[in-house]
Amino acid sequence: MGSAGVPVVVGLDNGGTSNNATVLTLDGQFLVDGLVEIPSEVQAGPEAAIEALARALDGVLAHTGVPREVVRAVGLDTPGPASATGVISSRGSTNFSQPAWRGFDVRGALERRLGLPVTYHNDGNAAALYAHHVHFGAEAMARSSVSAIVGTGLGGGVVEAGRVVAGAAGMAGELGHVHLPLDGLLAAEQPVPTCACGFAGDAESIASLTAIERNLLPYWLTRYPGHPLATEPPARAAKLVRGYGERGDALARAIFTQQAMALGRLFTIAANFTDPHAYFVGGGVVEAAPEFRDWFLATVREHTVLREEQAAVATFALVPDRDMAGARGAAIAALEALRSGPAPQPLVA
Ligand SMILES: [Zn+2]
Repeated sequence: MGSAGVPVVVGLDNGGTSNNATVLTLDGQFLVDGLVEIPSEVQAGPEAAIEALARALDGVLAHTGVPREVVRAVGLDTPGPASATGVISSRGSTNFSQPAWRGFDVRGALERRLGLPVTYHNDGNAAALYAHHVHFGAEAMARSSVSAIVGTGLGGGVVEAGRVVAGAAGMAGELGHVHLPLDGLLAAEQPVPTCACGFAGDAESIASLTAIERNLLPYWLTRYPGHPLATEPPARAAKLVRGYGERGDALARAIFTQQAMALGRLFTIAANFTDPHAYFVGGGVVEAAPEFRDWFLATVREHTVLREEQAAVATFALVPDRDMAGARGAAIAALEALRSGPAPQPLVA
């Protein structure tokens, strides 16, 4: 492949069912076009999962013909909640349900297993970093962005000067749990949506698949009583809403209008908080029919209130390559950690 001997970093995206891996040369070229996936064995507990990650690394190196000796670092991302240093939440999480995962240092364990430096981000932050670097290219380290990624929950990240803002406890960029103003967003009789985190009226309580099942669809079905989705089980019905939206169905468009308004209001908060150069929207909508996808992004834009000066410099775009964004963002993070070297020392000891 002509790549043997060129130093690289490897990106490993750990998911509930599979690991996805990529290879990035130190001069910024991805050596994998599509997906290199293997089972993640997360349900079998941490030990099996660490071995599965090591196999994912070996597998992607074999696939690209890159010898292990030229791997300088590894970037890892997993679903949250986890700390900024890759310790899975002590309360456990949806993906890491086995008790041994609670408080498990997945980054440190992988670093010991591989004998290579490992950087860590949650999957939303990794995808946000990828969107940022693809969009801005050579100017990435001089630009800022906010990404909102609509999935089961609402993930994403805040990128400043090309780097993910992690926060003191690793909880920056938890955009899903930012409270939104609801005036004019909800219909007159519509109950205030609730989130699994305990908040009512936060971004995830509207802009997520869970929100469709739990909050939006139950309400909108009362407004469209004869709708075919009324006869489906709720979890399945929620997943079917996007297809109806693509076909122009009124109930589905009402639901996605509320989601787009919620993202616009979230971005309005971002505009007054970090004033980013770019606002990215990711998730299933990226794969939707072009007319629907473009309508959704335009509706988000329409509901984002920017000052004239901000509107002149800000862009709105989709997070590209949904399936590869995590692994590629993790690889970019590992590369940036190599480039920036050790953290600067304080002036006063
Ligand atoms: Zn929440």
